[in-house]
Amino acid sequence: MARTPIIAGNWKMFKTVSEAVSFFNEAKGGAEVEGVESVICAPFTTLPALVEAAKGTKIAIGAQNLHFEDNGAYTGEVSGVMLADLGVKYVIVGHSERRAYFGETDEIVNKKVAAAFKHGLTPILCVGEKLEEREAGETKNVCKVQTEGGLKGLTAEQAAETVIAYEPIWAIGTGKSSTAEDAEDVIAYIREVVAGLYDQATADAVRIQYGGSVKPANVKEYLGQANIDGALVGGASLEPASYIALVEGA
Ligand code: PEP
Repeated sequence: MARTPIIAGNWKMFKTVSEAVSFFNEAKGGAEVEGVESVICAPFTTLPALVEAAKGTKIAIGAQNLHFEDNGAYTGEVSGVMLADLGVKYVIVGHSERRAYFGETDEIVNKKVAAAFKHGLTPILCVGEKLEEREAGETKNVCKVQTEGGLKGLTAEQAAETVIAYEPIWAIGTGKSSTAEDAEDVIAYIREVVAGLYDQATADAVRIQYGGSVKPANVKEYLGQANIDGALVGGASLEPASYIALVEGA
C-alpha cells in the first residue's frame, strides 16, 4: 500500500512570532512538494500567525503538546479544543523530552492521543529507547510497550491515521543517527506490533517516521527504506533552506 511520506519539523522551544513568520515565507513554495506531506510543529505562541500564513499552502501546522482535558484548572496548559479552534492539524505527543522532563507516562501519552482524535487533530506519537535500553537489547520491547500504550483504546481507523515517530533517544539532537538499516529494522517491528494490535491492513496504512539527527544529507537514506514513511526533524528543520531540502529529499 502506498503511504504518503511525511516530513515534520519539530521546532521545540525556538522562534518568536516574527521569526516563525519569516521562516514560513521563505520556506513555502520550496517546502511544498507533490506527493510529500509537510508539517511544521511550532511553539504555541507562534501557531495563530503560522496557521494564517499557511492558508492556501500545502504546509500543515502542528503543535508540540496538548493537555488531555478540554479545559479546567490546569495552569499553563493548552487543550485540543484550543488547538483545533486555531486550525492546527497535527500535534506531537509523547516526545522523549516531554517524557523525560515533564513526567509523561504511557498512560498520559495515551490520554493525549485520545484527546487529539476527539478534536480532529492527528497525533504524531513518539516512541523510542534510551541508550542504556539499546545496550541492554531492550529497543524493540521498549518500542512495543510505548506503541501499545500510546494506541490503547483507539479504533483501527484512528490507529491507521496516527503518525508514529520512532526516535531513539540517544540520536535526538546529538548528531548521532541510527543507521538506516537499524531504523528500518525497528520500524518494521513497530509495524508488526500494530498488526498484532489490529490487523495487517491497519499496519500497512499507518505511517511511521524516523527521527534523530536527520538532515538533508541523510534523509534520502531513511526514506529509501521500505517501512520508513518520513522523518520528524528537530535541529535541521529550523532553517528554511535546510527544511526545504528535507522535504525535497523525501
Ligand atoms: C526531535 O526533536 O524530535 C529530533 C529528532 O531532533 P533532532 O532532529 O535535532 O535530532
